[in-house]
Amino acid sequence: MKKINSVLAFLGVLLFCLSSALAEHSPALPTVVIITTGGTIAEKTDPNTGGSVPALSGKDLIEAIPSLSKVANIKVINFSNIDSSQMTPQIWANLSVVTDKALEDPEVKGAVVTHGTDTMAEGAYFLDLTLKSTKPVVFVGAMRNVSDVSPDGPANILNAVIQACSDEAKDWGVTVTMNQYINSARDARKTQTSNVQTFNSGEKGYLGYIAMGKVTKFNNRPQGQKFPLPDKLPDVVIVSAYAGADGRLIRSAVTSGAEGLVVEAVGAGNVNKDMFGAIQYAIGKDIPVVITTSVYHGSVMPVYADQGGGALLMKEGAILGGDLTTAKARLLLMLALPYVKDDHKKLVGIFSR
Ligand code: ASP
Repeated sequence: MKKINSVLAFLGVLLFCLSSALAEHSPALPTVVIITTGGTIAEKTDPNTGGSVPALSGKDLIEAIPSLSKVANIKVINFSNIDSSQMTPQIWANLSVVTDKALEDPEVKGAVVTHGTDTMAEGAYFLDLTLKSTKPVVFVGAMRNVSDVSPDGPANILNAVIQACSDEAKDWGVTVTMNQYINSARDARKTQTSNVQTFNSGEKGYLGYIAMGKVTKFNNRPQGQKFPLPDKLPDVVIVSAYAGADGRLIRSAVTSGAEGLVVEAVGAGNVNKDMFGAIQYAIGKDIPVVITTSVYHGSVMPVYADQGGGALLMKEGAILGGDLTTAKARLLLMLALPYVKDDHKKLVGIFSR
């Protein structure tokens, strides 16, 4: 598997070499790398089907924003052009290697990653957990494609570049920046399917705001964690709890080879007795189980001690996932498992930060 990492490193170098510097270099301005991955921001409406389809290269995106050349020297890396529903943790691992490679250049102040909004919060969190570089990385997308009467992509990219150059953004790690609001990768959440004001950070609040070319800081980033990219990401499966859930999907995940499970529980982290039995079965087979919640705000907590309650789940050896979303808890477990091996206490510690 070492091979995979060397292939990735090679891919990174190749993409970096293929990256193109746009417009004339101005020594007075900082340099920002824009890495494009796809999503609505790079789409237009197909007149035949009326549906939104991938259409724009990185160069097209940048050329639509002439004022960018007054903010920074821009280098573009065309990483992919896919809808973010097609993203995988392995693609994010590749993206992390490419981004780190680009940020190694001492001239580069930060990176902007254009990405579909559907899985942007998870992709940003994956990079936040794995990037070696401490330079700012700003994830950005659009809710309206370029065929729309008022596409939001160009202004979002301009703001993302402004943020990447700003000293305020220095210690924020990876952010999700859309519609002028800056969210930490850890707490960002897509909350609306079709509105430009879709990302927020729940009770934690925004990190900052961008207006008139200036970044205003509201908050420090949440404490970050870092993991090395493993040679192989483990198979971690998500199962949801709901009224009448019978635990069969948990048992089936275990028998089909899952190496970890995230169970999205209800309330403060509770499941019914059948799900509880299935979780006991998984733990009995040494499969780590992380409990998250379908509730929008708040953490999973060991409150209830009836069968399937959070307190009992914890006693059985399940790990409480705090206030991480289910999809992000899965990514954290995928990165933590190869790192902690069988050290349950260490794993619990990782989820209680
Ligand atoms: N379907 C799009 C995606 O790639 C949605 C978007 O980009 O806003 O996630």
